[in-house]
Amino acid sequence: MTQQERNVKQDQIPFCEERQQLIEAFVEASRELVELQSQQTQNVISGDPDFVRFDDLLHMAREKKDQAKYALIAHRETHRC
Ligand SMILES: [Zn+2]
Repeated sequence: MTQQERNVKQDQIPFCEERQQLIEAFVEASRELVELQSQQTQNVISGDPDFVRFDDLLHMAREKKDQAKYALIAHRETHRC
């Protein structure tokens, strides 16, 4: 590899497929959490006593989102992408 080729390679924005998948997983988990929160809010507003059942679902959705976030952070630290 010549010096010039090396420079070109470094200037490119690295595309990392794994990072992209982790970002998508995080976005998806965030959407699910927001969706559940809005459903629970609607249930509270409409006086549905069943709104507490959302707490477990919200807890799971929050954990899923956190896991996706930490996976993304860990990937960035090890991969430098
Ligand atoms: Zn990567």
